[in-house]
Amino acid sequence: MPPKEIRKEYSNDSITVVWEPKYCIHSTKCLRALPGVFDFNARPWISVDAAAADDIANAVSQCPSGALHFERHDGGPAEEPQPEMTVTERPNGPLYVRGKIRVLSAEGDVLREDTRMVLCRCGQSANKPFCDGTHTRVGFRTDDN
Ligand code: SF4
Repeated sequence: MPPKEIRKEYSNDSITVVWEPKYCIHSTKCLRALPGVFDFNARPWISVDAAAADDIANAVSQCPSGALHFERHDGGPAEEPQPEMTVTERPNGPLYVRGKIRVLSAEGDVLREDTRMVLCRCGQSANKPFCDGTHTRVGFRTDDN
């Protein structure tokens, strides 16, 4: 069964970070970029007071899946989509997509619009067409014949 749509917000006067766990593939990019702010073992797991808004915005922008986004309240630069859409193969993993993206169902319904997405390539995700990290558990290889 696909995961539920949940939207969580973490705010202070300068920035709001939005997290949608349904799309998080636990790539740990955010944790590695700013471990004082993003910590899966802490509650809440995002501490927006632990760094400057510019640094948090930079870390959020590295999230490949679009599970993280931010809104500035201090006049700082807003998120800008990459001008050209790119699709990048990940070794033994999914497809990273950046740009202005709209994913449609077979019936033509909009499943998601975003500027960053990770799409399933192993065929095993429970959240298709989005990656849910299952490729790691099933040992998906892109170099197999
Ligand atoms: S960078 Fe994005 S996809 Fe990776 S762990 Fe953080 S929220 Fe999840």
